[in-house]
Amino acid sequence: MSQRENRNEHPHPNRTSEAVADALERSGLSRRDFLKIAGAAGLASATGMQAAPVRAAVSTRARIVVLGGGAAGLTMAARLRSLLDGARITVVEPSEIHHYQPGWTLVASGVYSIGEVQRRTERYIPRGVDWVRSGVAAIDPDSQQVETVDGERLDYDFLVVATGLHLDYEAIDGLRREDIGRTGLTSIYASAEAARDAYEQIQAFGENGGVARFTIPGTPIKCAGAPIKAALIANSLLERAGQRGGTEFHYHTGADRLFSVQRFDTMVRDLYSEHDIAVNQDGFLTAVDVDARQATFRGTNGNEETVDYDYLHVTPPMRAHEFVREAGLAVEDGALADGGWLAVDDRTLQHARYPNVFGAGDVVATAIGKTASTVRSHGAVMPDNLVDVLQDREPSREFDGYTSCPLITEVGKAALVEFDYTLEEVPTFGFIDQGEPSWMWWRLKVHMIKPLYFNMLRGRYLR
Ligand SMILES: Cc1cc2nc3c(=O)[nH]c(=O)nc-3n(C[C@H](O)[C@H](O)[C@H](O)COP(=O)(O)OP(=O)(O)OC[C@H]3O[C@@H](n4cnc5c(N)ncnc54)[C@H](O)[C@@H]3O)c2cc1C
Repeated sequence: MSQRENRNEHPHPNRTSEAVADALERSGLSRRDFLKIAGAAGLASATGMQAAPVRAAVSTRARIVVLGGGAAGLTMAARLRSLLDGARITVVEPSEIHHYQPGWTLVASGVYSIGEVQRRTERYIPRGVDWVRSGVAAIDPDSQQVETVDGERLDYDFLVVATGLHLDYEAIDGLRREDIGRTGLTSIYASAEAARDAYEQIQAFGENGGVARFTIPGTPIKCAGAPIKAALIANSLLERAGQRGGTEFHYHTGADRLFSVQRFDTMVRDLYSEHDIAVNQDGFLTAVDVDARQATFRGTNGNEETVDYDYLHVTPPMRAHEFVREAGLAVEDGALADGGWLAVDDRTLQHARYPNVFGAGDVVATAIGKTASTVRSHGAVMPDNLVDVLQDREPSREFDGYTSCPLITEVGKAALVEFDYTLEEVPTFGFIDQGEPSWMWWRLKVHMIKPLYFNMLRGRYLR
């Protein structure tokens, strides 16, 4: 039986004033605090709330299938819906619940509840767009067809791949997903529930004391700041509880840098030094013995070392879903080939071999840019380029690599990190030092980013 559904929700117009009202209404900020943040930089530019360019809707009968209805899939579908008149747009997404993942660090901080980071997917399927409530099993880009796990076949003229990434916990020997959240093993990447478990487990750890370890894998990951945030949040919670004294903190990486942007690499090292978090550049996590509470790291020279832990925060290796590679759509050479990421031009987001295939969000093979903030940029580029190609033109818009996240440095403070392909800072607030940890960016993170995110899902305030 087909699981299609047609939604009747009206997309809202692109108006900054409406976003301000939305943000204020949902933020829970006092008007005074709101005005402090907004007034400091001029609200529209401060929050980057400019709308994507207005274009007259193009009339077409094209069939467009969007795979994935997460941050990128919903945003691309909403923008395409506003750019095209008469197109048959279908979103393939199995989950009834949409997860606001940037909020998971705040769940792990004890600030957000799980309910605050979940919404029903159906609220964000744009009017006039079909929703197939299933997962994609296979893509045949030559016959321009998608097969779902329920056996339904969907023909397309244009395909948008936006299925995010696969968390490869299985690549770590001995680690089973069901172990996350018990006996000191945590991972805020796994789910909102796992983020809440991390919050609870750090408190239990604080009471007993011991050794805490935080890991990062050797693959590209979404929100590359989150493993750092996991360590700094845990540190802050224990400092506040007066329990940090009986604990040891270690951050493990096999990479040369803690952060790709030099300034933030230095900042994180300084913060770690200030808060007595040892940096071990001894390798990447390869195995865990959950019962014995032991973790094994393999260095770039192949040497392995096994160490004890009382609290372990794992950031798993990440890669694209296997069907991308199986379809012949993955990048085949270079540093990103191992992960099976979608082979797109890193500026236009058009597929390297199939001109009618585009990508958005975490799945694409770009050197940087696996954040929800990046999706705001993809939303102002990819759908417009698809419309160009539909009209037999070359793609006209370019993605600049924009990547951003508020880097939580303690519960109550954050630095606002924004950069692009140049790995130089591209601050929205040009005249304030965004890289200096401040209560202001924390407030922005807690109260304003979430309403902006949900506006983005409706195709508004793209960057
Ligand atoms: C702990 C954490 C903290 C983060 N912090 C920040 C932050 O501070 N700032 C920031 O900008 N970003 C942050 N992010 C990153 C951000 O959430 C992602 O970059 C963003 O969600 C990417 O959007 P996406 O649509 O590519 O992937 P997702 O939002 O993950 O969506 C992928 C969708 O594809 C669907 N899907 C999966 N398999 C299939 C299939 N076979 N068929 C069809 N659909 C499928 C999934 O159900 C899902 O809905 C954070 C992420 C995490 C986990």
